[in-house]
Amino acid sequence: METELFIGGKWVPASSGNRFDVLDPATGDVIATVADGGESDAVAAVDAAAAAGPAWAATPPRVRGETLRKAWELMTERAGELAKLISLENGKALVDAKGEVTYAAEFFRWFAEEAVRGEGQFATAPSGANRILVTRQPVGVCVLVTPWNFPAAMATRKIGPALAAGCTVVLKPASDTPLTALAMAAILAEAGVPEGVVNVLPSRSSGKVVSRMLHDSRVRKLSFTGSTEVGRILLAQAADNVVNTSMELGGNAPFVVFGDADLDAAIEGAMIAKMRNGGEACTAANRFYVEASVASEFASRLAARMSALRVGPGTAEDTQVGPLVNEDTVAKVDELVRGALDAGAKAETGGSRPEGPGFYYPPTVLTGVAPDSPILREEIFGPVAPIVTFTSEDEAVRLANDTEYGLVAYVYTTDLARGLRISEAIEAGMVGLNRGLVSDPAAPFGGVKQSGIGREGGHEGLLEYLESKYIAVSW
Ligand code: NAP
Repeated sequence: METELFIGGKWVPASSGNRFDVLDPATGDVIATVADGGESDAVAAVDAAAAAGPAWAATPPRVRGETLRKAWELMTERAGELAKLISLENGKALVDAKGEVTYAAEFFRWFAEEAVRGEGQFATAPSGANRILVTRQPVGVCVLVTPWNFPAAMATRKIGPALAAGCTVVLKPASDTPLTALAMAAILAEAGVPEGVVNVLPSRSSGKVVSRMLHDSRVRKLSFTGSTEVGRILLAQAADNVVNTSMELGGNAPFVVFGDADLDAAIEGAMIAKMRNGGEACTAANRFYVEASVASEFASRLAARMSALRVGPGTAEDTQVGPLVNEDTVAKVDELVRGALDAGAKAETGGSRPEGPGFYYPPTVLTGVAPDSPILREEIFGPVAPIVTFTSEDEAVRLANDTEYGLVAYVYTTDLARGLRISEAIEAGMVGLNRGLVSDPAAPFGGVKQSGIGREGGHEGLLEYLESKYIAVSW
């Protein structure tokens, strides 16, 4: 297990000598102590990334792509051990961790293929006076900041396109889950990524370290995945040096079920949209809007499925729902549920926090949730499904859009015309139409409103790391 900083291709301790603990969410026990990067380490990481930049940008796209493909192969070979590591530090069930490793590795394979597709453009100016030549160049040194909920996939979704485009990076992983990020660095080095192209800087002083890098004029790009709250702070900091940003922020996904929906499919989809990663996903269904005619059947069937899930340590083979990542997260879920219950909601299953140890919360279904309940406004980030009923299409759209977020929405109906109409009307960057899972490395992932700016994955994911250069040519 790697526990040092990874700078310029070397494993180094923090210059301060400081270290911090990483905990097992199933017990609260310390599983590792990791080097705690500070501001001078951040400068060293940017030095390394800046020094490696020109040679990596000049490396043929095919070679960059083959290197990423090798990283995909190594991740795939080591899927079992990587999944255990994710489960150990994040708490998620092994089955979810295995799913994450496959998803994460696919970003390397996808961007290995995209590395050779940084096409430009050529045209004759409308005046006929000159030609318009547009070429794409790497943005430069990128700072990547990732959350704890998908410690591998959020890293590869950024490192893959950055390296494909010819950029060099400093990754600052979440301090709850730095071990997976360090394991990814080791894999990339083994795949042949040159020294300094990828640097990984775990830190307990995220605010200072990231700010230091964003105010270094050599840093030209910030790609952030995390909460909208921290995203706002970083957008303000990025403004100082006019740093290019991609922001993948919080979500508050509505899951809309019409009376004509295939209820079997809707329940299956609800289980995936709600329970993938134990509910700790930005794409997690946060609010269930169900047409009144099918609401009680939907609620009782969902409650039956949720109560049958096996809760336990993520690392145990038969666990379906692991503990939440830390005390703050489980305390917030508990507070939101208690608020909803106090305002008149009913727990069809779950609804109260068990005794410790560990950061567990039971799968919970709530009905009769008051429309102004905070649980419908805030990201729950846990295994809780609040259900609200509606009676018309217009009401469903109004409720779904009644949020500052706009990451993803789910819609279930067997009327395709209605499904597409609602998909267009809902303010979200992504819609799952009769599907509870949208994430795909080949598709543009991202949100509108306060869920973010920019897209990751697909071809658009590559463009986030390229600048267009226009050359006006006369001959
Ligand atoms: P977070 O608190 O915003 O933290 C995200 C990252 O930012 C971590 O690496 C964190 O480091 C760092 N950070 C915290 N405060 C900072 C500051 N002042 N300056 C610079 N960096 C700072 O989010 P989280 O709790 O880890 O993750 C959950 C959130 O991520 C949810 O809102 C979820 O919706 C969102 N998310 C969005 C997507 C998406 O694609 N849209 C995907 C996954 C997750 P520390 O760990 O050291 O605090």
